[in-house]
Amino acid sequence: MGPLAAAVLGACVGSFLSLAAWRLPRGESLTWPASHCPACGRTLAWWDNLPLLGWLWLQGRCRTCGAPIPLRDWLTEGLTAALWVAVVLRTPLAASGVAGGLRLLAGLLFISGLLLLLLLDLDDFWLPEPLCRWGLISGLAATVSLAVAGGTNPLAPLVDHGLAAALALLGFDLVGVLGTWWLKAPALGGGDGKLAALLGAWLGGRGLLLALALAVLSGGLFGLLGRLAGRLKPRQPFPFGPFLATAGGLVWLTPELLHRQWLAILLPWLNTLGLAFGG
Ligand SMILES: [Zn+2]
Repeated sequence: MGPLAAAVLGACVGSFLSLAAWRLPRGESLTWPASHCPACGRTLAWWDNLPLLGWLWLQGRCRTCGAPIPLRDWLTEGLTAALWVAVVLRTPLAASGVAGGLRLLAGLLFISGLLLLLLLDLDDFWLPEPLCRWGLISGLAATVSLAVAGGTNPLAPLVDHGLAAALALLGFDLVGVLGTWWLKAPALGGGDGKLAALLGAWLGGRGLLLALALAVLSGGLFGLLGRLAGRLKPRQPFPFGPFLATAGGLVWLTPELLHRQWLAILLPWLNTLGLAFGG
């Protein structure tokens, strides 16, 4: 699949993700009725419903009642298109054939699912249990299939990824219980542990640790800056899922982060610093 095809398909999937993020919390069916304006109920013609383009030529307003169509829908389509291109570009070409194709499919599924969970948690502090469960199961299935297609024994990666998922669930439960006892208020969203377990199933132990570190750092920084800037009240909660999902996607797209090569980049600098301080 070329980058252009990935962008077009990604924009279509992004259109579906916005629809799902709107309908799932409202308990509406994903397939029926067809896309309609939430304000006046007018069913959208197929040309109004084209990803990215429809929003532009309607200039972000419903043709009938003029109600604004959220800019976020358009951004979601654009972001999904960009992420699909990134997955295609980041899937190693050396692993072409069945293994490469599987890795590409797995990456598209993982990244799209993470984006849906991010949108749901952002709007409703809601990481649906069934979505996390199926995400976890498909992560383990992808781990096994990728190992088999790559000609290696799937047992070791399956144990690694399965243990990472189980420990993530237990760890988040423990932190949640301790935090609630300490703060006398719910410390963690109930879904965060399930999302972390999903990440463990896809990324394995080392990938999960890196993703958790990135999520805690970025989430902590966001909370600190938000409070300093007065945008967040002192104990106002904010969803942690978007940070977990973003970090997980980043680790999948840049597996180099897991290798030690970055140490080789850092070491000369550290040596220089050492010389500066030592000499
Ligand atoms: Zn309307």
